[in-house]
Amino acid sequence: MKFKVNNNTGSPIKYENEVQSLCGFAKGRLGFQKPPSIFLNHDERNAGNTLGKTGHYDPNTMEIHVFATGRHPKDILRSIAHELVHHSQNENGQFDDAGFSGKGYAQKNPHLRNMESEANDPMLFRDWEDSLKEKENTIYNERRNRKMSLKEWKNNEIGDLLTDKWGFKMDLGKLNEAAEKPDFADLDKDGDKEEPMKDAAEDAKEEDSEEDEESDDKEKSDDEKKGKGKLNPGLQAYLDNKGKK
Ligand SMILES: [Zn+2]
Repeated sequence: MKFKVNNNTGSPIKYENEVQSLCGFAKGRLGFQKPPSIFLNHDERNAGNTLGKTGHYDPNTMEIHVFATGRHPKDILRSIAHELVHHSQNENGQFDDAGFSGKGYAQKNPHLRNMESEANDPMLFRDWEDSLKEKENTIYNERRNRKMSLKEWKNNEIGDLLTDKWGFKMDLGKLNEAAEKPDFADLDKDGDKEEPMKDAAEDAKEEDSEEDEESDDKEKSDDEKKGKGKLNPGLQAYLDNKGKK
C-alpha cells in the first residue's frame, strides 16, 4: 500500500521511503485498514520553541500532521509512529465519546491517558527500525550488522561484482594456479597488488563459505570434475585485461 505523503516543508525530503516503510510496518502490526494521510509541515516559530508541537492526529480527516522543520529525520519518523497508533485507535473507535480533551487531558482523562501511553510505547518504532537493519545488504548497516571487517566487506563486494559479470558464483579460492602470481588485479581491493593472489583469494573464499555453503559445496564437485586449478577462460581473459591497465 502506498501512503499519501504531503511534503509541505518547502524543500525535498530524503526520508520518504522510510515514511512509507514505517506506515506499512505499522499497518501490519496494528492492523488498521484505511491509510492515513501524512503531512510534513513547516513552522519556523514552532521549531524554535523547545516544547513546541511535534505533531497531531485528526480523527475526523484521518490526517497525521508532523512538524518537520529543524528536526532530525529519525525524530520525525518517531512522531509519525506515535500518530499512527492514534490512527489505529481511531479505527477501533477509541476516539468516540473519549470525554474531556481540553488542556491537561493526559492527566485528567484516564481514557485518553491510556491512549497516549499506548502511542508512546517506543517498541513499534524500535521493531520497525530493527526489522530494516536485520535485512542483509541495506544501506543502514551493511558492515556493522554483520560484524565484517573492511577487508571482508571489500572481498564480499568483489565477489558480488564477479558474480554479476560472469553470471555464476565465483569461488576465488579455486585460483590456486595463480596463487604465487602477484595480485595485480587487486582481487580483494585492498590496494596491495604485490601480495600473492592466493592470499587475496583465500580471504574471499572464507567469506564465501560462511555466506553460502550449499552452493559452495556444489561448485566444489563441479570444479573437481573439470580438473583443479584451471581458470575459467572468460575470467582469465578478464584478469589478463585488467593486468594490462
Ligand atoms: Zn498522542
